[in-house]
Amino acid sequence: MTGDFPTSDPPSRTERGISTSRYDHDRSELDALLAGLPTYRTEQLWQGLYSDLADPDDITTLPAALRSQLAEQLPAALHLDQRSVSDNGETVKWLWRLADGSLIETVLMHYEERSTVCVSSQAGCAMACGFCATGQMGFDRHLSTGEMVEQVVRAQQEAGDRRVSNVVFMGMGEPLANYDRTWAAVERIHGALGLSARHLTISTVGLIPGILKLAEETLPVNLAVSLHAANDRLRDELVPVNRRWPLTALAEACSHHATTTGRRLSFEWALMHDVNDTLRDAAELADYAGPLSAHVNLIPLNPTPGWPIRGSSHLRVREFAGELGNRGINATIRRTRGVDIDAACGQLRASRTSVDLRPPRREASSHLPD
Ligand code: SAH
Repeated sequence: MTGDFPTSDPPSRTERGISTSRYDHDRSELDALLAGLPTYRTEQLWQGLYSDLADPDDITTLPAALRSQLAEQLPAALHLDQRSVSDNGETVKWLWRLADGSLIETVLMHYEERSTVCVSSQAGCAMACGFCATGQMGFDRHLSTGEMVEQVVRAQQEAGDRRVSNVVFMGMGEPLANYDRTWAAVERIHGALGLSARHLTISTVGLIPGILKLAEETLPVNLAVSLHAANDRLRDELVPVNRRWPLTALAEACSHHATTTGRRLSFEWALMHDVNDTLRDAAELADYAGPLSAHVNLIPLNPTPGWPIRGSSHLRVREFAGELGNRGINATIRRTRGVDIDAACGQLRASRTSVDLRPPRREASSHLPD
C-alpha cells in the first residue's frame, strides 16, 4: 500500500528552539501528522513507538511507504557518541550527541530488584556546583521532552527482558530549571511507557518555586534534594543556589511537598573529605533531616577535574552513616557505579571534551584543604 500518507510537514517545534525527537510529539500532534489517514494509524504509530519501542521504519503494522515517510519526519534525537559498560555489564553509560552537537549522558544501572535509568534534563547546567563535572561545564541548553523520553526508550531497548522500573532525573542538568518539559517527560514516561509514578524521582539543587509546583501535580513522584551541607555557610559555597533559597526556606518547601504528596523526601549527600564528612556535619544533617522524616543517600564524592577535593574514605562514610543512625536518621550508602567509566555526573562528557572544560567558577574556600 502506498500513497495514503499526507504530505504535510510534521508539527515542528524546532522553530521554538529545541525539539528534534520523535518522542516530542503527543497523540494530537501525531494525529495532525497523519491527517487524512484512518485514526487507527495514529494508534499503530503510538503503539510502535511506546509499546514496541520501534523505529518508525520497523513498525510493520504501518504500510511500507508510510513507514519510510515517518522515518524521515520523526527522526531520533540521540546519536551514539560513546557507550561504556562496567560492573560486569550491570552499568551501561551512553554519551549521546544531539542534533545541534550538544553532548549529554544517560546511565542504566541494573540492581537485583530493579533497573534504574539516570536521565539528563539539560545539556550542561547553570547551577554551578563546583564539585560537579556538569556544573563546571556551564549551561548549553534545555532538553526537549522527547530528548528525555528517548533516553528512557534507549535504555529499555538495551535492558531487553530486564524491564526498566525506575527513572531518576539525576543526569546532567537541573530538572526544575526546565520544569515544563521535564514534567511532560514524567507524564509520558508514566502514561505511555507505563512506569509507576512512585518509581520516578526528580532531583534538584533546591529550586523552591519548582518544588512548590511539583507539590501541586497529580502524579506523586519522589523528590530528592541535593543537600550536601546543612548549614548555610557551607551550602552557599557547595551549592550556590543556596544563596537565593537558603536552608530554612528549603525545609519549608520540602515539608510542604512531603505533606501534600505523601511521597518520601530524600537528601543526597556527596561525602567530601574534611569538608562535610565529620561527625559534626552528621549531627547538623540529622537535625535538618529528622523533622522532615527524610531519607539520606550518602555517596562518596567522585573526584572531578577542576575541584581539588577527594571523596571520603570508606571508614569515614561508615562512621558518618553510623552517626546518622544513632540520631534516628535512615541513611543508605550508595554503591558508586561505573567509576571506571566516569559515570559520575557529567564526567564522561568532561573526559570526552576535556579541552572545553572551563575553570571552576569559584575559588577554593577556607573550608577546603590546600
Ligand atoms: N541538578 C540536579 C540533578 C543532577 S545531579 C541535582 O543537583 O540534584 C545528580 C546528583 O549527583 C546530585 O545529588 C549531585 O549533587 C550529585 N553529584 C554531582 N557531582 C557529583 C560528584 N562529583 N560526586 C558525587 N555526586 C555528585
